[in-house]
Amino acid sequence: MENEILQLGGPHLKECKCCGIEFYGRRNQKFVNTAHKAQYNNEKRALKTEKLKPIFKRMRTSYEVLNNYAKNGKLGRWMYITDLIKEGFDANIPTNLIKSKEDGAEYYKLLDYAYRLSEDGTKIIIQKVND
Ligand SMILES: [Zn+2]
Repeated sequence: MENEILQLGGPHLKECKCCGIEFYGRRNQKFVNTAHKAQYNNEKRALKTEKLKPIFKRMRTSYEVLNNYAKNGKLGRWMYITDLIKEGFDANIPTNLIKSKEDGAEYYKLLDYAYRLSEDGTKIIIQKVND
């Protein structure tokens, strides 16, 4: 069988960005059709998501630990950080640094919770913040 190059309404010889199939198309045409374009973009997105998965998981677990402590009425008091770590809390996750208007101390903010560590790093205090 003859290997005929697809004719798609343009004179320019192109290679589909997703699968490499050759076709004649418009100068700026990158894909054979919209299905190939969607496929390519889905795979690209999946790769990005895959990269971020471990960090998102650590953030989610840490957030759940903070949330459980809040639910159990443990906001605003010093606690041993090892207890939180046992439950999966990770103090090295990416957070925003904010300054408390009340005591001037710097807190790490994770969504609607903020926490800071004692100077020796053994204790943690969690506060609820308004976004
Ligand atoms: Zn393709």
